[in-house]
Amino acid sequence: MLQPLRRRVFPLLLGSLFLGALACQSSVRNVRADGASPVTVLRGARVIDGSGGPPLENAVIVIEGTNIREVGPVDRVVVPASARVIELEGKTVLPGLISNHSHLGMTDGTSAGGQHYQRDNIARQLRQFEAYGVTTVTSLGFNMPLLYELQQEVEQGTLPGASILGADGSIGHPSGAPPVKAVGGQLQRPGSVEEARAAVREVASRRPKGLLKIWVDDFNGTLPGKMPPEMYTAIIDEAHRHGVRVAAHVHYLEDARRLVAAGVDILAHGVRDQEVDESFVRAMKTHGTWYIPTLGLNETFYIFAERPEWMAEPFFRHAVQPALAQQLDDPAWRASVLQDGKTAPVNKRALEFNLKNVKALHDAGVRIGFGTDSGATPLRIPGFAEHRELKLLTQAGLTPLQALHLATGSAAELLGLQDRGLIAPGRRADLLVVQGDPSKDIADLERIEAVWHRGRQVSGAPTDFTP
Ligand SMILES: [Zn+2]
Repeated sequence: MLQPLRRRVFPLLLGSLFLGALACQSSVRNVRADGASPVTVLRGARVIDGSGGPPLENAVIVIEGTNIREVGPVDRVVVPASARVIELEGKTVLPGLISNHSHLGMTDGTSAGGQHYQRDNIARQLRQFEAYGVTTVTSLGFNMPLLYELQQEVEQGTLPGASILGADGSIGHPSGAPPVKAVGGQLQRPGSVEEARAAVREVASRRPKGLLKIWVDDFNGTLPGKMPPEMYTAIIDEAHRHGVRVAAHVHYLEDARRLVAAGVDILAHGVRDQEVDESFVRAMKTHGTWYIPTLGLNETFYIFAERPEWMAEPFFRHAVQPALAQQLDDPAWRASVLQDGKTAPVNKRALEFNLKNVKALHDAGVRIGFGTDSGATPLRIPGFAEHRELKLLTQAGLTPLQALHLATGSAAELLGLQDRGLIAPGRRADLLVVQGDPSKDIADLERIEAVWHRGRQVSGAPTDFTP
């Protein structure tokens, strides 16, 4: 079932093995002036490399600078004499998680809206993502030029937190989705096909070969308008002329079907109104369309009011800002969610379809990414949402290794990133060190002991993090 995806990852692996071999040859002269070795070795852990393959027991990872130089069994990898060695027996090391669908600067505490697109707020969210093991986050829409400033600062090492990718432009409908209070240039709502094409050209002029987000949904019939096929067909056509990829918010199968036929690159949510059928599966495969299920999204509408046991655990509490914690602990708020009689059943049904559909599409070999829509509303909690999503993927019937593959190697592939997502020579040393074995029990992924980002340990357990 995993074969088609793994076949695509494999040539990348071979490519980076080659790079790794080159790095080995040149490493001898790469000793710092102060005599300290720039090489760090993680020894003795089980390695889940992000390709979907079985874990490698008792492994050695050699890190040089920001990247992985070598990985292999303990008896086959030569540990440089000058290396700093960290013993990790009994632990598991995995690639840092990559989110393909999150949002930055759209919430603060219990409040949502474009007014929160502020440096300090986004910086806080980036630190939270990273503390929970999400080392790369895609802000899929509502972005402003500030994103690129912060992106650069993270890459230069002057701003701590997750690495950023983003959809530059966002195009919605004048009387339809998204039902969000956007500010400044976060969102355009063109009224005609020509205006839509112009909006795409503007995005492309800023970020050629970038990513563009559109919305095709009426939010369960609550919005009067929905972007018509002629408009998104024109948007996709114009985007592709400029090398820009298009990610579409969807909910309904029929919209997803038309979007795929129109050449959309990424479905940014799962199909949640009915089961997908054979012709849809075939179209997804023929077009090579990516699918980001965002299973946890619908759950956020009711799960916190139901107060499952995990809400008392430090792993959850440390991801929740004080104002939000107060709301979640308020019995009146919980009662208001549960008593409305519609929210919970509607979203439970959507989640059920989403679970079934991701399993069917995954089994059929459709390309599947990883995302949660974290940060879009206060209840889609950065970092925590990604761990919840992995659990839901296993609930859908994927094995823990398959779920982890989506959140690492596959998520990198969706973004066209060949520098991360796998533990392989030449890739970035973005790593999670966890207790236990998440390939057997996905819950062990929460037992984070250390997060590494670009070759450096940047945090310990998420419970050291204060939101
Ligand atoms: Zn979103």
